[in-house]
Amino acid sequence: MNLILFGPPGAGKGTQADLLTQRHGWPKLSTGDMLRAAVAAGTATGRKVKKIIERGELVPDKIVVRLISERIDEADCADGFILDGFPRTVPQARALDKLLKKKKLSLDIVIEIVVDDGALLERIRHRARQSAETRADDNEDTLKTRLDVYHAQTTPLLPYYDRQGKLRKVDGMQDIEAVAAAIEAALRTMAEEAA
Ligand code: AMP
Repeated sequence: MNLILFGPPGAGKGTQADLLTQRHGWPKLSTGDMLRAAVAAGTATGRKVKKIIERGELVPDKIVVRLISERIDEADCADGFILDGFPRTVPQARALDKLLKKKKLSLDIVIEIVVDDGALLERIRHRARQSAETRADDNEDTLKTRLDVYHAQTTPLLPYYDRQGKLRKVDGMQDIEAVAAAIEAALRTMAEEAA
């Protein structure tokens, strides 16, 4: 199963992707993790994106599309993969469709984790307090910028995938296990519909 976990920062995409990996073995492909690794390793890409990430803005589409395209070619993606934090713009989604087609692959489902904005700000504040030392972009101001960027640049992807008939929504305001169960139910329904 090739899927996208979609939702704003703080929605729990990373946590749910890790649970899906545990249950199904599909690797999590997180452009955020890849970019942070590049920054930590001091690569040319890392040096280019460090400040952008710290500001909470989006790095150029070209960089993340290349990272994802190369990662999908690795052997562990053969039975499926979970995209976490990619695509984040309509051009990225178009590039993804194109590169998957070229690799003779396709997306099965896009799962939106729906979280209400007020609760999100509270989660974001909590996360900022907890991870102040681990993520330079998890302070409150940057997280607010990331939420604004999500609304402006990433939510236009929802109609894009809805038109393709691939979008399913789960209520992200429930506890972690209930969200995980809702995701499993959405995957089952999608598999049945495809059969
Ligand atoms: P994340 O861990 O997914 O929240 O990503 C952390 C930061 O990395 C984002 O705020 C962006 O600066 C950058 N980033 C991650 N994924 C993307 C993407 N698909 N497109 C552009 N920038 C990204």
